[in-house]
Amino acid sequence: MSTTTRALAAPSAGAPFEAVTIERRDLRPNDVRIKIAYAGVCHSDIHQVREEWGRALFPMVPGHEIAGTVTEIGSDVTRHQVGDRVGVGCMVDSCGECEMCEADHENFCQNRTVWTYNDTYPDGEVAMGGYSQEVVVAERFAARIPEGIELDVAAPLLCAGVTVFNPLKRWGAGPGKKVAVIGLGGLGHMAVKIAAAMGAEVTVLSQSMSKAEDGKAFGAVDYRATADGSAFKELRGSFDIIINTVSVDVPLDRYLGMLRPFGAVVNVGLPTSPQQVRISSLTSGDKVLTGSNIGGMAITQEMLDFCAEHGIGATIETISADQVTEAYDRVVGSDVRYRFVIDVSTIPAE
Ligand code: NAP
Ligand code: ZN
Repeated sequence: MSTTTRALAAPSAGAPFEAVTIERRDLRPNDVRIKIAYAGVCHSDIHQVREEWGRALFPMVPGHEIAGTVTEIGSDVTRHQVGDRVGVGCMVDSCGECEMCEADHENFCQNRTVWTYNDTYPDGEVAMGGYSQEVVVAERFAARIPEGIELDVAAPLLCAGVTVFNPLKRWGAGPGKKVAVIGLGGLGHMAVKIAAAMGAEVTVLSQSMSKAEDGKAFGAVDYRATADGSAFKELRGSFDIIINTVSVDVPLDRYLGMLRPFGAVVNVGLPTSPQQVRISSLTSGDKVLTGSNIGGMAITQEMLDFCAEHGIGATIETISADQVTEAYDRVVGSDVRYRFVIDVSTIPAE
C-alpha cells in the first residue's frame, strides 16, 4: 500500500532530470509524512547521479537536504505533530539498537544505515530522496527546524550544516582557535558561518579572490587565494583546524604545513581518487589528518538549534525544477553562491 508523489528523477547515470511519479509507503506507527517545501543540491547528489562513487541505483531521486512540514503522523509518533516544521538529512533508517545507534551515531550503524536515496531499506523498499513533494520517514530521522529559520535557508543545514558543525565542535573550534576552510562552496560557506559563530578566527582558502567579500561577510577575518602558492608560505604553521571541503584532489602536504603543531586537517570533501601524503608532514608537529561523515541525529538537532540561536541559515539561490540539470554544471564549475535550493512545488504535475 502506498501513495504517490511527484519527483525529479535521473533515469540513468548523468542523464538530465525528468519529472516522474513515485510511490511513498503508507505510514507505519513510527512514521511521519512530510510535505517537502525545499531540497538543497549537495555536491554529493552530483557525485552519485554521475556515478562518481561507483555503481548507483537508477532511476534516482536525489536530495538529502530536505525541509518541509509534517502532514500526517503514525499512531505511535511522539516527537512531531501535524504542522511541525522538520528537516530530513542524509539518513532515513538505522537499527536503533547497536552501540553506534545507542551513542547517537546512526550514521555509523553497525547493522546498516539506510541513506536517504541511492539505497534500499532492509525490506527492499528503494529509498528516494528530497527532489520530490512528499516523503515518509521514521520520526527519529526528522529533525525539528526551530522557529526563526525559514525553510528554504534551513534545507542545506541538514547536510552541509551538520557536516561542518560536527568536526568543528569535535576539534574544538572556539575563541582563541584559528580555523581555515578550504573551498567556499556549499559546505565551505556553512563552515565559515558556523566557525565564526563558535568564536573562532576564520580564514578562507579559496582558489581565487573572487568571493572574498562574501567570505568576509560570512564571518572570515582573512581570505586567501591558493592558486599562486604564496599563501602556503605566508600562513605556514598558522591554524589549529583546517576543514577541507573540496571535492577534488588538493595538495594535502602543503595544507598540513599550514597547521600549528597538534593541529588537524579534517577532510569532509570526497574526491574519488586515492590521496597521497608524506608521513613527515604529520610527524613534524604531531599533526592529525582525518575525515568526518555528516553527523548523527542528536548533533543534527544541536546544529539546527545553534544556527537558530545565532541567526544562521544557508546563503541560497532558489531554483525551479527545470533548472536542476543546469545547476549541477554550475556547482561543478564552482559557480554556486552558495547553495542551490529547489522549490519542489515547481515540479510539474502529471
Ligand atoms: P561545492 O559547493 O561544489 O563546494 C566545493 C568547493 O570546492 C567549491 O566551491 C570550490 O571553492 C572548491 N573547489 C572546486 N573545485 C576545485 C578545484 N579544482 N581545486 C580546488 N578547489 C576546488 O560542494 P559541496 O556541496 O560543498 O561538497 C563538497 C564536497 O563535500 C563534495 O565532495 C561532497 O560530496 C562532500 N560532502 C561530504 C560530506 C561528508 O559527510 N563528509 C557531506 C556532504 C558533502 P572555491 O571556488 O572557493 O575554491
Ligand atoms: Zn550532502
